[in-house]
Amino acid sequence: MDHFSGHIKELIDQLSALPGVGSKTAQRLAFHIINMPAEKAKALSDAIREAKENVRECSVCHTLTDDDICPICRDEERDRSVIMVVENSRDLAAYEKTGRYKGVYHVLQGAISPLLGIGPEDIRLKELIRRLEGDVSEVIIATNSSLEGETTAMYISKLIKPTGIKVTRIASGVPVGGDLEYIDEVTLLRALDGRTEL
Ligand code: ZN
Repeated sequence: MDHFSGHIKELIDQLSALPGVGSKTAQRLAFHIINMPAEKAKALSDAIREAKENVRECSVCHTLTDDDICPICRDEERDRSVIMVVENSRDLAAYEKTGRYKGVYHVLQGAISPLLGIGPEDIRLKELIRRLEGDVSEVIIATNSSLEGETTAMYISKLIKPTGIKVTRIASGVPVGGDLEYIDEVTLLRALDGRTEL
């Protein structure tokens, strides 16, 4: 890529470091950005900077949000006695899209992975346990059906069992290793309806 000037090369390098962006796509995007009107390019870079500066974790459920407490946790209509545990904010968004779940969420911001050196203390688990001190009747574990997701589900269920709170796991109609966010709404609802007690 040495035939590109330093600035173009830097832009291509940054873009190709993004997930799913190969070097061809990175080049195409880089030249697209360079050819954009100045104000459009500025809006793009501002959006990246402002999202980085202002997006934080909800102090209750730990989803990514602009506020201290996210709109779902603020919503008086939601049933706070049912907590669905998901790995990330994209999984939360997938369930929200179904429009049928009326409980609240807990976002782990990851999953336990001995292979990657991610332990229970690296995800928002103690925050979940702290929430269980409130009036909670059911914890629905909706982590992915990957090895990491299953490991996390087992770990959480063992942790919660002694409290006497009902722990359920979404049905495994969800393809193994499938990321929740890519699964259609019907499958998600079926997985939720078919959840079983652990
Ligand atoms: Zn929240």
